[in-house]
Amino acid sequence: MKTANSVFEGQGTTIFTVMSSLAAEYDAINLGQGFPDEDGPIEVREAAAKALRDGPNQYPPMMGLPQVRQTVADHHKRFYGLEVDWRSEVMITSGATEALADCFLGLLNDGDEAVILEPAYDSYRPMIERAGATAIAVRLEPPAWELPVQALRDAISEKTKLIVVNTPMNPIGKVFTKKELSEIAAAAIDCDAYVICDEVYEHLVFDGRRHFPLIQFPGMRDRTARIGSAGKTFSLTGWKVGYVTAAPGLMGILSKAHQFNTFTTPPALQLGTATGLQLSDAYFHDLAADLQQKRDVLAQGLAEIGFEVLEAEGTYFLSASYAPLNLDGTAFEVCERLTKEAKVATIPMGAFYENGDGGTVLRFCFSKQDEVLHEAIVRLRNVL
Ligand code: PMP
Ligand code: GLN
Repeated sequence: MKTANSVFEGQGTTIFTVMSSLAAEYDAINLGQGFPDEDGPIEVREAAAKALRDGPNQYPPMMGLPQVRQTVADHHKRFYGLEVDWRSEVMITSGATEALADCFLGLLNDGDEAVILEPAYDSYRPMIERAGATAIAVRLEPPAWELPVQALRDAISEKTKLIVVNTPMNPIGKVFTKKELSEIAAAAIDCDAYVICDEVYEHLVFDGRRHFPLIQFPGMRDRTARIGSAGKTFSLTGWKVGYVTAAPGLMGILSKAHQFNTFTTPPALQLGTATGLQLSDAYFHDLAADLQQKRDVLAQGLAEIGFEVLEAEGTYFLSASYAPLNLDGTAFEVCERLTKEAKVATIPMGAFYENGDGGTVLRFCFSKQDEVLHEAIVRLRNVL
């Protein structure tokens, strides 16, 4: 047989699937892959169920159902004061994952460069490479995970077509400050690059911090694609409904990629998402407050065991180093052992760096019921 595509042939199975499978095999609590263990609002699910039952269940419009795109635009106005034209600037996709693929396939050519910030969500690099471009990584380092502005400047060149920013940032739970986002905006403007802003955790921000959409920064309106996800905002990760917002010029090309990628997204799930986007401010407030409390439970438990717990400002994720515990082996081996012996699965931070070196830091997902988090802490304490 002829060889398949070299980018995908060179890939292993994603760390999320690897650790979730191991967790299932050893009956471990799965704090690895990021998903809540309770489904989101019943009214959102009921709206989707009704739409599924009543129909129509045929192809919706390629850009998404008009009323759903309107609720996305209303959401942006409500939370950020951002005015967008739902007709020309909003598109519904099959998850943020598809939206990202649309951006890379729509914008990149052979020989282009795309700057990513590591530790990076695992789909960015392979999809950038499959689109023919080279991913140039800028490393953020623990414990502070500050944006290294000079390294970002050094990474950009006349070949830079786009910069990917993920705020709040998976896997480290960082929420970029206004100052850091201004630095990224300035860098993008200087090299005339697009910015793909993965904001799937926009509503999962803690301790009174604020999420700032980069698309609102001076000079960014026409060069930024903003991506959201119903999966994260409504604790329904299996739904895979995403929404992209971009100025008409940029949206034109993203829609060309979307039309040949998935073309449309299941209409019932779109309508459920529209119900979600219209939930009261209290829903969005409580979502973050609830997760913040879970973060505190896990952070305190891990600190008591002896982990060095790093700050988690947003997302589902907390990172912690096991260095003070003097465990042998690579971080992956430690994760494997903890899954098998303590029956708690986590993810080695190295999985999010191209060179695999994330030191002794592990990522823990805390979007779980309190008793599950408490039980995970007991199990870890017993083994460690
Ligand atoms: N970006 C980041 C940073 C994520 O963590 C995820 C979660 N899988 C996605 C994109 C993909 O979101 P979706 O499930 O909507 O495709
Ligand atoms: N976003 C989730 C995480 O980071 C997992 C998504 C996936 O399994 N692809 O854990």
